[in-house]
Amino acid sequence: MNTTTTARTGSRSVEVFDTTLRDGLQVEGVSATVDDKLRIAEQLDYLGVHYIEGGWPGANPKDIEFFRRAATELHLGSSTLVAFGSTRRPRGKVDDDATLRNLLEAGTTTVCIVAKSWDYQVTEALQTTLDEGEAMIADSVAFLAGAGRRVMVDMEHFFDGYRRNPEFSLRALEAAVVKGASHVVLCDTNGGSLPHEVEAVVADVYRLVGDDVIIGIHCHDDTGCAVANSIAAVRAGGRHVQGTLNGLGERTGNCNLTTVIPNLQLKLGVQCLPEGRMARLTQVSHHVAEVLNRPLNPQAPYVGSSAFAHKAGLHVSAIARAKDAYEHVDPELVGNGTRFVVSEMAGRATIQMKAAELGLAMDGPAVNQVIDDLKRLEHEGYHFEAADASLELLMRRASGWEQDYFRVESMRVITDELAAGDFTTEATVKVWVGEDRQVRTYEGNGPVNAIDSALRAAVQASYPQLRKIHLTDFKVRILDGSTATGAVTRVLIDATNGERTWTTIGVSPNIIEASWRALEESLVYGLLHTTN
Ligand SMILES: [Zn+2]
Repeated sequence: MNTTTTARTGSRSVEVFDTTLRDGLQVEGVSATVDDKLRIAEQLDYLGVHYIEGGWPGANPKDIEFFRRAATELHLGSSTLVAFGSTRRPRGKVDDDATLRNLLEAGTTTVCIVAKSWDYQVTEALQTTLDEGEAMIADSVAFLAGAGRRVMVDMEHFFDGYRRNPEFSLRALEAAVVKGASHVVLCDTNGGSLPHEVEAVVADVYRLVGDDVIIGIHCHDDTGCAVANSIAAVRAGGRHVQGTLNGLGERTGNCNLTTVIPNLQLKLGVQCLPEGRMARLTQVSHHVAEVLNRPLNPQAPYVGSSAFAHKAGLHVSAIARAKDAYEHVDPELVGNGTRFVVSEMAGRATIQMKAAELGLAMDGPAVNQVIDDLKRLEHEGYHFEAADASLELLMRRASGWEQDYFRVESMRVITDELAAGDFTTEATVKVWVGEDRQVRTYEGNGPVNAIDSALRAAVQASYPQLRKIHLTDFKVRILDGSTATGAVTRVLIDATNGERTWTTIGVSPNIIEASWRALEESLVYGLLHTTN
């Protein structure tokens, strides 16, 4: 028994349990292949979470294949793989229960089973008695622990159940503890709880079980409080936090690990990751977003691209003098960085700071020129906040620079529909490289691909470093959609040389012209920053 009621967050640590590969993949519009899941598991291990829940073996062929391949292909250094399942079925026996057998066959040292801890769920969803509900938990934990597994029990709907019938919820929990569960994980399955409620309930449970078992927390974000609820649970004695990268999950998502980890570790001094791993957080968050083709919210706390971005305004030069006066933590602690955002709103101070960042000497008239150009171009539909590379080229041009890598004489692109319904696209580019006139014609799987190939081919003989430069993304947005094809098209192109990535922009009523502008700038920027 423990009667402490004060927050228990002194110099402590918590286990981080990632459920991106199970709960996280419940999010609408996301599907992951087995390869994707293996890549994500590697990222989680690189970050250093304690546990990676791989999925529900037996629930679908993909998860069976995941555990089979994980056994030989995953070489985890920091993390432990966990198989997920449930308690035995009502009125069944543990030794002929398919779910429990699949859990053992997954071959992990640790398993996590979901158990009903709300009386209403037992009587209504399972259609059985409370005694049988308790026996299902006791038997299943005893069986898995007897087979040598570390057994975690997700107490489903614990907070809803505890509010209505605490006696049964605690009976369910005690059944798990007595039969050898290492963890009881209190789940806010419907996500409806608030932090003060979670803190009070976890404190009650902690008074009951003390440190005999690890109390975990699993929150869904339906009130927007999943992170706050998880922190409340840790303050009340929880030592194990479940969540997903980037808060992925069904409905409004799960507790976002990329938020709760730095909150606990940097704000409350609760160790979550091994020494030196916190700085990998931003990189891992972006990498996983990329694998799942699920763009990260730029405003995501800590890891979003805007998390430490400062836009124009009066205080920009003050930020440069004293960053810590305007940032709640040092962005480098989580692998992010301070960014000064330049847009049509930018004043002289912002442009001068950006120039200093780029190493450009700009006099007063050049700065005024940039401000005028930004206002005019953003009015036309450009958006330089999203296209740092185009902004840099614009600023260089304002200070008198001109690119002399190549000069375009003409570009033509033709798309034909053939009899069979197939399309072919062909581009011809005529450029001058110094005194040399180069003419190239290339086919592509679309106009952008064709003009990219032709332009590169024309220029590459003189600039072999172009081989290192690749386009990684191409985004098209129609501005003012109400006028349909009469609207302006904005094209953003991302490229990389393996060391840095950059974005350029093109805007035009003609999608080919917009693409061409962005492409040309992308190559020029690449040549400027890529050595041979
Ligand atoms: Zn869940």
